[in-house]
Amino acid sequence: NNALEISGLKKVYKGGFTALKGIDLTVKQGDFFALLGPNGAGKSTTIGIITSLVNKTAGSVKVFGHDIDKELEQAKSYLGLVPQEFNFNQFETLLTILVNQAGYYGVERSLAFKRAEKYLKKLDLWDKRNDAGRMLSGGMKRRLMIARALMHEPQVLILDEPTAGVDIELRRSMWIFLRELNKQGITIILTTHYLEEAEMLCRNIAIIDSGVIVEDTDMKSLLSKL
Ligand code: ADP
Ligand code: ADP
Repeated sequence: NNALEISGLKKVYKGGFTALKGIDLTVKQGDFFALLGPNGAGKSTTIGIITSLVNKTAGSVKVFGHDIDKELEQAKSYLGLVPQEFNFNQFETLLTILVNQAGYYGVERSLAFKRAEKYLKKLDLWDKRNDAGRMLSGGMKRRLMIARALMHEPQVLILDEPTAGVDIELRRSMWIFLRELNKQGITIILTTHYLEEAEMLCRNIAIIDSGVIVEDTDMKSLLSKL
């Protein structure tokens, strides 16, 4: 079963810059997958297209067999996204942010509160539940973003540079949390420009450079080549 199938994916931005030159990627259900590459390689563009925030120029994307061109709502229902920017309402409380997010996906309100409690506790944010988002430290905001992405209990969690600007101690606790989610069967796809992060976490890896996939392999094979 494939969680994600990308084929011939191409992106030309307005202005003419080609960010993706026709990439193919397959991520199996249950995988922990890294898309590794330097800044500007096309990682965020790829994630943006998968989550339908960015329009593609050519190619296809399927999420659990649902083509985003034909069955966008189904495809989206499988996906939880943790973007790089802290794009939640900074003036709302953590509980409100999470419960509203669940509401967008039609999760019933009392269930939404239960889930918010579960994830706030797991991510060590429960004490802050009635604080406004803007009161949180950067690391706490990052964890809130992860909780928010999980509110509709997606099959696939996609994280764009999840530990950028996060100190080493918090980074480790985030890694442990992500591993636990993956053990529960959630497919995880993350972008990173740290090989060490991919190495610590991921089973399979693709390396992207200037809009081209230059390597697509399992982590062990990659490490044995270096
Ligand atoms: P990464 O996430 O790997 O750092 P991005 O996908 O953000 O890379 O960017 C890939 C390339 O596309 C970069 O050269 C970037 O400058 C360019 N790019 C990104 N967004 C836009 C945009 N909206 N318009 C034009 N070029 C863009
Ligand atoms: P704390 O250790 O008190 O939780 P933070 O989590 O706020 O500290 O910050 C951890 C690191 O993340 C710091 O180096 C900080 O500069 C950086 N950081 C804070 N906010 C952001 C942000 N919005 N984007 C990127 N990095 C950030």
